[in-house]
Amino acid sequence: DQKVVIIGAGVVGCSTAYFLSQKGIRNITVLEQGPLFETGGSTSHAPGLVFQLNGSKTMTRLASETVKCFMSLDLDGQPCFYPVGGLEVAATPERWEELKRKRGLAVSWGIEASLLTPEQCAGHFPLLDPSRVYGGLHVATDGIAKPLRAVQVMARYAKERGAEFYGNIEVTGIEVADGRVTAVKTNDRIYEADVVLCCAGMWGPKIGRMAGVSIPLQPMAHQYAYTSPLKEFADETEEVRLPILRHQDRSLYFRQIFDGIGMGSYQHRPIPVEVEQIARHGETEEMPSVQPFTPEDFGNAWQDATQLLPALKVAPVKRAINGLFSFTPDEMPILGEAAKVKGFWVAEAVWVTHSAGVGKAMAEWMVDGVPDVDLEVCDINRFDSYSQSPAYIKQRCSEAFEKVYNIHHPLEPADSCRNMRLSPFYARQKELGAQFTETNGWEQARWYGANDAMAAGRANNIPERAGWEARYWSRAAGAEHLIALEQAAMFDLTALKKRGRLTGEGAAEFLRMLTTGFSQNRPGYASSALMLNERGGIKGDLNAVCLSDTDFFFTVKGAVEWDWVQRQLRQSPFASSVRIEDLSSGTCTIGILGPMAADIMQAADRTAFNPGRWIPGQARELHIDTVPVMVVYLPTFGLPGWELYTSHDQGLRLWDLLWEAGRPHGLIAAGSQAYDSLRLESRTPDYGKDYWSEHDPYEAGIEEAVEAGKTGFIGDRALSERRAAGPKQSLTVLTVDDPSVVIMGYEPVFDGDKAAGFITSTGYGYSEGGTIAYAWLSPQAALAGKTLQVEYFGRRYPVTVAAQYSVAAK
Ligand code: FAD
Repeated sequence: DQKVVIIGAGVVGCSTAYFLSQKGIRNITVLEQGPLFETGGSTSHAPGLVFQLNGSKTMTRLASETVKCFMSLDLDGQPCFYPVGGLEVAATPERWEELKRKRGLAVSWGIEASLLTPEQCAGHFPLLDPSRVYGGLHVATDGIAKPLRAVQVMARYAKERGAEFYGNIEVTGIEVADGRVTAVKTNDRIYEADVVLCCAGMWGPKIGRMAGVSIPLQPMAHQYAYTSPLKEFADETEEVRLPILRHQDRSLYFRQIFDGIGMGSYQHRPIPVEVEQIARHGETEEMPSVQPFTPEDFGNAWQDATQLLPALKVAPVKRAINGLFSFTPDEMPILGEAAKVKGFWVAEAVWVTHSAGVGKAMAEWMVDGVPDVDLEVCDINRFDSYSQSPAYIKQRCSEAFEKVYNIHHPLEPADSCRNMRLSPFYARQKELGAQFTETNGWEQARWYGANDAMAAGRANNIPERAGWEARYWSRAAGAEHLIALEQAAMFDLTALKKRGRLTGEGAAEFLRMLTTGFSQNRPGYASSALMLNERGGIKGDLNAVCLSDTDFFFTVKGAVEWDWVQRQLRQSPFASSVRIEDLSSGTCTIGILGPMAADIMQAADRTAFNPGRWIPGQARELHIDTVPVMVVYLPTFGLPGWELYTSHDQGLRLWDLLWEAGRPHGLIAAGSQAYDSLRLESRTPDYGKDYWSEHDPYEAGIEEAVEAGKTGFIGDRALSERRAAGPKQSLTVLTVDDPSVVIMGYEPVFDGDKAAGFITSTGYGYSEGGTIAYAWLSPQAALAGKTLQVEYFGRRYPVTVAAQYSVAAK
């Protein structure tokens, strides 16, 4: 029986204890520095608003699971959830458009939501002045959670099954031996542990440091106020009847609480607080997670509130606090087992809204090895070292706070902490007028202003855009796409992948075990395959050049996939003989794509790139002029293409050499938007965007990536079972019938009136003349030639299911 120690008896610690107990784990000890169960953490004063809908499918699912769980619980007859509904109002035309888009998102993620007129909004929330709003979005299943009740019910359940909860015990250290946790030290005694789960809320970074693990979150103050009683609620006996209300244009939210209103504001400046500055129990009259109210930060919040809810004018604020809770650089929770310390798990920066969903997923992950829901976006190992720096955490979290209620465009880059990671080509890219975004911390060119002029002659293929879809777009991206198809384009691919070397006895065997491919490795050739989890779900793709049976140069998507490779290696028989070296920061990648690519490479080095000497997948280490490069002949997106890797210091020279060789052949520099639209036009789905760990290769239509007859790799048995069972959904290509219509991703797809699925990635096929999108559809809807509808900002547009494609045929 594994000894599990959970640090923190807030809503996250108790939820996870509850679900671990449900899974039969008995030896659970929950340690809490405060009194049980009003511990003084964030849960103790959370007003409990649960708005389920989120841009992330994962987060929406975690919220729905939370509602489901809390609805099933009561504390001696007192409910743990009041399903009073949730209402978001629009006070600007932009927000009203955004709510239409959000309604579509709700359909995509399986949440029922409806758009309301101003009068209907006032019908649901009678204090609201309908003349102030354009309309609202109503989600009937949203509501108020009672986390302090829920923790008690869940703890009671866990205790009945053997768990022990101790209050007033402060964890002071974590013992680690041979890279794994062994015990938790407290002010009282030492608790032996096989598994430690850190649910310490905003104190998480402190606990992390005890184990040598970085938990990049920032405690921030957030203002919350309670009004005095309102005559409209005279004699109210229910805690809450009105829906929870969000007024995002003024960064405010509201809930009824008996005869008054609770009101939260994000209008104020970000107020980061250091973990060390948080008061200890008993040091102040307030709980540790409550700081003195700073009225100067409340600013216009009250005035804005009274404009929307005029009844508040005569119900002044009777109590207000600066409450503390956690923010993260990307606004996502931090979940999972730390790469550095085996057995040290983390569930941090989780709102009440997602708490029970997280508890359930954590229990599945810890006990079964794989959570039901894809948690890549929340994985603790997604943070590269730059993103663990205090400077980064503070700046990005402050930005996240400021933008929390903004209208987020899917292509909008962060403003803070830019120019952190620069590829060696950066200076040249700037000279060409590159517009940058940030990818994995790198500055990545989206398109080059220098190519704008070339769009003019191709206007027929590059329809002008207006409004939402024109943002973060330039017709230069269209020109780059077309020129890559006509001539050739040079792409900086440095940001897209992590690069590494896998060396030592057993490296080839390890790759065979890790992936769906690599049965035969030919030195001097590149191959690619999928990594699967134990349930046959896709954990990433891995491309590798075999230099010898004991030496591979490989790439994976990002830090989470990198961690997966390392983790599997540690658990494999090759742990002591095979080494992984991270080359990402010290290397760079250029892709040359297009019909003229061979001529350009020949111009760069006539001997090395002799025509006929290269066959697809072939790789060589050679010099171009003085630059040592690893070159792979890799036709991509249906175009002849080379990928070139070199060290960071030589990158600029390589760029210049290729540029000089390529210009006479019409070579241009092209950015990530053209790369993506070329990908879509060639029908190449992308891991992380179009399919993820919830899907298997058959559902994703990439079964060619699984070598026929291969066994003995991670997930093979589950994969056979999934294959035999047949797909529950299919990744499908759709084309939008009207060539002037552009969509942005995550829109719902309808088959008649029935929701049939949702869009993943989408882009404009500039040579094909129309928008192309991937979508997950029910098998009934995914029939080639069938007409469906996609909903975009509340309007429906016909789309056609494209003929089924095959990666091999590309
Ligand atoms: P906590 O409840 O803080 O629990 C962590 C526990 O760990 C604490 O009890 C702490 O004492 C304990 N601990 C820490 N260090 C140690 C140690 N060394 N030894 C032993 N124990 C330790 N979320 C929503 O979803 N909806 C809302 O409407 C909402 N409103 C909010 C309003 C305000 C004003 C604030 C501040 C937050 C709000 N939140 C809301 C956020 C929400 O409250 C938190 O995200 C959530 O409660 C976090 O739960 P937790 O269990 O992770 O953390």
